[in-house]
Amino acid sequence: TYVVTDACIRCKYMDCVEVCPVDCFYEGENMLVINPNECIDCGVCEPECPAEAILPDTEADTDKWVELNSKMSESW
Ligand code: SF4
Repeated sequence: TYVVTDACIRCKYMDCVEVCPVDCFYEGENMLVINPNECIDCGVCEPECPAEAILPDTEADTDKWVELNSKMSESW
């Protein structure tokens, strides 16, 4: 799955939301998050993010973001 990280905080771009084929972006308090259960790992959103906030969860140091994306998207 892909995750949204801190570079997204108070970001005004929604480019990622528009390209996601499964609509798995959700709006959190001050950032967007990806629901890991819905993300199909297509990778389309990553280059669309102007803030470079989207990373695959295989990247180093993404653990806390994986957890946060999961938590925030599941309260919907
Ligand atoms: Fe959506 Fe694909 Fe990005 Fe997952 S990797 S959030 S399915 S655009």
